[in-house]
Amino acid sequence: MKPVLYQGLQPGGQLTTTNEVENFPGYPTGVTGPEMMVQLEEQAKRFETDVRSGFITKVDFSGDVHKCWSDDGKEIHADTIIISTGASAKYLGLESEQKYLQLGGGVSACAVCDGFFYRGHEVVIVGAGDSACEEAHYLSKLCKKVTMLVRKDEFRASKIMAERVKAVENIEILFNTETLEVMGDGEVVTGAKVFNNATKEERIVPCTGFFVAIGHKPNTDVFKDYINLDETGYIKYEQPGTSKTNVPGVFVAGDAADKTYRQAITAAGTGCMAALDAERYLAAKH
Ligand code: NDP
Repeated sequence: MKPVLYQGLQPGGQLTTTNEVENFPGYPTGVTGPEMMVQLEEQAKRFETDVRSGFITKVDFSGDVHKCWSDDGKEIHADTIIISTGASAKYLGLESEQKYLQLGGGVSACAVCDGFFYRGHEVVIVGAGDSACEEAHYLSKLCKKVTMLVRKDEFRASKIMAERVKAVENIEILFNTETLEVMGDGEVVTGAKVFNNATKEERIVPCTGFFVAIGHKPNTDVFKDYINLDETGYIKYEQPGTSKTNVPGVFVAGDAADKTYRQAITAAGTGCMAALDAERYLAAKH
């Protein structure tokens, strides 16, 4: 086969912003995300994958041959396509948040990647799902204090995860609390201006790290005219237990279809399934 790989806007994806990957088999002492991504690219090239920079801006899956267009205007025809465009972390969208995110001044959407930099500091984490709870727990082991901002009066997380967070002494949970502004000195974060939507009170929570854990958005917009997505934009498997989408010859792997596990190893596993499904599809076709 002649695989062509478009690497997208962030070659290596979310793993390039992940520190240690501890649960990928074969690395007894762990591996960093970027290191693993370099090795995966080398391995793909050994099988003559044509690795290209650039991203896909348009697709047409209406015919027998699947068509894609890259950002440099190239039209690509393929017998099979494997979608593995992953997901991106969501942010609040505040101007101040984006400013300190771009500056690398203390806004992060990955506690596991960046928590280390806040050892002994006070940090804030926004969110009330399982991810926020897991990340708050992780941060509590590194940081002096973790303040969790929950916009409703309850967690969305599973009871067990919420209870786990409530039991930690250096985690303070502020319910009914929304962020108005990420405050800073122009270079780094110094606090969060928050608002209690029940009492209407405003206050400033001092912090040097502002973590956002409000979910992920799958990178599937470009496929939505042809591929069946669920209500949150994740690609739906046509046949559970396979990598098949609703379009014959188009398969999916990794976080673009996975909102539950989202691990390097589960993405790699579904990648293997997609490759085998694609191979079988081609064998049956020709
Ligand atoms: P979720 O979608 O479950 O939760 C997102 C959280 O962010 C919600 O509490 C939501 O609040 C909050 N939120 C969204 N937008 C804003 C906003 N603008 N301001 C403030 N808060 C906001 O995402 P997760 O990433 O936590 O989890 C995704 C999936 O992964 C879930 O199915 C989860 O169970 C799973 N998971 C499981 C883990 C485990 O079991 N170990 C670990 C991590 C994830 P609200 O509730 O008010 O809508």
